[in-house]
Amino acid sequence: MDVTSSLRSLLPYGRRSIGINQLISKLEGYLPPAEIERVQDAYDFAFGAHQGQRRRSGEPYITHPVAVADLLADLHLDPQTLIAAILHDVMEDTPTLKNEIVERFGNEVAELVDGVSKLDQIQFKSRAEAQAESFRKMLLAMVKDIRVIMVKLADRTHNMRTLGSMPPARRRAIARETLDIYAPIANRLGMHAIKVELEDLGFRSLYPRRYKVIETAVRKAKGNQKQFIGKIGDALRSALVKAGIEGLVEGREKDAHSIYQKMRRKKVSLSEIVDVYGIRIVVDEVDTCYRTLGVVHGVYKPMPGRFKDYIAIPRANGYQSLHTTLFGPSGTPIEVQIRTRAMHDVAESGIAAHWQYKDGDDSARTYSERAREWLQQLVDIQQGGNSEEFLESVKVDLFPDKVYVFTPKGDILRLPRGSTCVDFAYAVHTDVGNRCVAAKVDRRLVPLRTPVRNGQTVEIISAKGATPNPSWVNFVVTAKARASIRQYLKNLKRSEAMDLGRRLLNQSLEEFSLNLRKVPAETIDAVVHDLGLRSEEELYEKIGLGERVAPFVARRLLPLDADSVPDTHAGPLAIAGTEGLVVTYARCCFPIPNDPILANLSTGRGVVIHREACGNLATFRKQPDKWISVAWRPAVDQLFHVEIKVEVTNRMGVLAQVAAAISGTETNIDRVSLIERDSDSSMLTFELLVQDRRHLARVIRAIRAMPEVLKVIRSLA
Ligand code: MN
Repeated sequence: MDVTSSLRSLLPYGRRSIGINQLISKLEGYLPPAEIERVQDAYDFAFGAHQGQRRRSGEPYITHPVAVADLLADLHLDPQTLIAAILHDVMEDTPTLKNEIVERFGNEVAELVDGVSKLDQIQFKSRAEAQAESFRKMLLAMVKDIRVIMVKLADRTHNMRTLGSMPPARRRAIARETLDIYAPIANRLGMHAIKVELEDLGFRSLYPRRYKVIETAVRKAKGNQKQFIGKIGDALRSALVKAGIEGLVEGREKDAHSIYQKMRRKKVSLSEIVDVYGIRIVVDEVDTCYRTLGVVHGVYKPMPGRFKDYIAIPRANGYQSLHTTLFGPSGTPIEVQIRTRAMHDVAESGIAAHWQYKDGDDSARTYSERAREWLQQLVDIQQGGNSEEFLESVKVDLFPDKVYVFTPKGDILRLPRGSTCVDFAYAVHTDVGNRCVAAKVDRRLVPLRTPVRNGQTVEIISAKGATPNPSWVNFVVTAKARASIRQYLKNLKRSEAMDLGRRLLNQSLEEFSLNLRKVPAETIDAVVHDLGLRSEEELYEKIGLGERVAPFVARRLLPLDADSVPDTHAGPLAIAGTEGLVVTYARCCFPIPNDPILANLSTGRGVVIHREACGNLATFRKQPDKWISVAWRPAVDQLFHVEIKVEVTNRMGVLAQVAAAISGTETNIDRVSLIERDSDSSMLTFELLVQDRRHLARVIRAIRAMPEVLKVIRSLA
């Protein structure tokens, strides 16, 4: 079937200058007709979607995606990539939905198009070197399929070619971004041809005058060198023939950007660079490269110190060649590159070579298999060396264990994979972390525990006086966040302990009709000193944490003439439920307001409240000085944990029914467990949150009323 002519008949208004014919004929060179037809179908689809849209240059919009696909066809990429290239702007710029693409072109193509659209949405702002590096990594980290980057690079290349129709400021920004971000990515992936073009176009737009100077010099030199290069080429060719080596000898052009870089890097003048001749020799086998080197060195003397063996030690992107510089006729330097055909292909297309369409390719290999293949190839050609370390250094780009996210100001933060909004907040600043109350990801409010993903913009909402939640420790992944939260809690515990210690000490002093305000400062200082402590605060903290016993300290604070018989009318320590980390409620008996309670001073934990009826209290009775008399404050407005056991007859759904009855009393269930006791009955254990004994009684009444319930008891150790 003649694809080209059938396609022509589809085009309205005889619009044929849009490059599709050129693309189709390129595809005929390496794709079977069925695949070409799919590409053509994509063209029809995109043509319809972009109908009526024009580029800034005035051309129909469709010329752009076709040109992008054309660039990728030069690399012989697979049909999916070409189709994605043709469709790459339909989701961004037209009402086309992803599932339309899935239906017509399959999931793989749709994912590629979606990937390119996502990359288009993120914006690079700052020009700082580190920021650019992070941004490059972010782009690579965002793509699940490296072909997304290939399409993006081709897209950028065509946009750079047609940059002229943009206003100057916009032009410069795009050129800058191209040089900072996209050319280095192309370089990293070994896509040399695209890298060179991006750099050249970027350099031309950013520094038009410098470009012009260099370009003119190069053109002039080329005119002068033409004959000369021809002569050198002939000399080398005949020497190779004599040595029995088959090789392709060609003159090598240098692009303006690399000349400019060299001038800056090596601090050499323009003429010193353009007056150097460039020659490339391509041979078949690796060992022929070295023989060729010998031959070349026999024709012209090598310049000492200029030989580089990138075959034995390839560059990180897989580039391999032998480089040498010769003293040409009348001492003119000649730079020579020697490589095999395979090395040449890698040097030109890099990673893209692994997605080239090959006949009979069932494309069974997945994305990561192919990417790993590429990496493996890079490792293989490293030949020994520290290949593991090398692999790590390349791998971080393609299989990153980091995520890259934006702050609202456009700065990029690098976080470990799995990091949450709280990790982000602490990465911004410890204070931001400590005071964060909510987070917005891409302007949408999300829970703080939400993991952040590549390319997202994260904004932390903080509030004055807000404090870290101890439960954050359970989901944060960064060491900084975890350490900061722990540090905060420790400080908090200290200040709470001091507060409690002061109250405990006052309570003990009350037994002697004293309080801390009435104790002279010198007396306190003396006791602090006697006990080997540093400060009054430390004394209170130690008492609060149970490391010092309040009644003993109180006795030391008494005036020497004081009546040492305690006044037994001193009141108990009032418990409000808001004491925080230094007052805890024993999980053996689950005390709740209105329960008669007793407290035990536990070293390091502070005051632990038990019910008077608790069986565990027996063990403490041997240490009376560690008991504290406590009582509930009237009208405690907090929720407390309490445990009840419910014996039920075994019946379908009985657990749900009991749970529903509990919920019916507006009570939260924190934990449930079920033990089947025998074939007839089971024991359900509920941990509930209640206000006080009256609340609990209401819950128990509601459960008892159920016919399935045999018995309800409140747990007590
Ligand atoms: Mn585009």
